[in-house]
Amino acid sequence: MTLTTQRIQLDHGTGATLSGELVEFIAQTLGDVYVGEMEDSAILPVEGTHIAMTTDSFVVDPPFFGNGDIGKIAVCGTVNDLAVSGASPRYLTLGLILETGLPFDHLFRVLTSVRETAREANVQIVCGDTKVVRAGEADQLYLNTSGVGFFAREPLRMDSVRPGDSVILSGMLGNHTVHLLSIREGLGFETRILSDCAPLNTLIDRLLAAVPAGSIRSMRDVTRGGLSAVLHEYAGKLDKGIVIEEPALPIQHETAMAADMLGINPLHCANEGCLAIFIDPEATAAALAALREHEYGRHAVTIGEVTARDGAAVILRDAAGRESILQPLRGAELPRLC
Ligand code: MG
Repeated sequence: MTLTTQRIQLDHGTGATLSGELVEFIAQTLGDVYVGEMEDSAILPVEGTHIAMTTDSFVVDPPFFGNGDIGKIAVCGTVNDLAVSGASPRYLTLGLILETGLPFDHLFRVLTSVRETAREANVQIVCGDTKVVRAGEADQLYLNTSGVGFFAREPLRMDSVRPGDSVILSGMLGNHTVHLLSIREGLGFETRILSDCAPLNTLIDRLLAAVPAGSIRSMRDVTRGGLSAVLHEYAGKLDKGIVIEEPALPIQHETAMAADMLGINPLHCANEGCLAIFIDPEATAAALAALREHEYGRHAVTIGEVTARDGAAVILRDAAGRESILQPLRGAELPRLC
């Protein structure tokens, strides 16, 4: 379509003609994944008795990186939060906060990523919102996506996890964080360590189909706060010790090097396409085989187990069998990784 201007202006946010042009630009670029009808709310058929809902805001810095951008992360983050609960992600919303001066070709790139990732994840955008702020009031653009998913199976819940369950990790730790920090700090690792940002719903579908019903107890996507945050959340909920075999942790050599230079622990680093899976130990072989067949699960490994030891703790065991407590991160979290 022909645009009146090539950059976002404050008037794109006023609800007048330019606002209409912006909305049309978004709808046209999203193409077939956008099924909204421009009503005040989307009216959607619901099948089944449970739905899953989630929402997330995205402020990643930089908004464009080596193998992705804020649009891809926005779809993946929401799809993955729905899928780990056992739901099939179906509908997403798309809220955009745009800074005056943002070039339309940047917006086009982001919307194209939203479209392509939505197609891959088989979700549709049903409604959205745009706001424009003055230059300096936002950093290029921020996104918000809410999502709805339906259950064709039993929802997965944290309280199904029990002592003796194994913990599987589906991918390499730390790459998303190290990729972004390397770009920000100019370290030069960003071509060798890529973000793992990916929609994981097809991987989860295959996993759940490969093992007996009930053997996958619960799952989380490893995002802010890293694997450490996930493990501490479960240990706290269960009031049990979770033991992790340190040598089993999948960490790319370059990632370990870069993390060392940056003074960060890969266990605290955000991922955007990695699952922590709590599973009946009887089912781990079938689960690992199914995960490793999928491009997003190639590095899947068993990393530890939930023990019967009372008291919430995450325990790291090194190659010599020595145990140490992994302390939770308090407030020193790295900003704007998603
Ligand atoms: Mg999550």
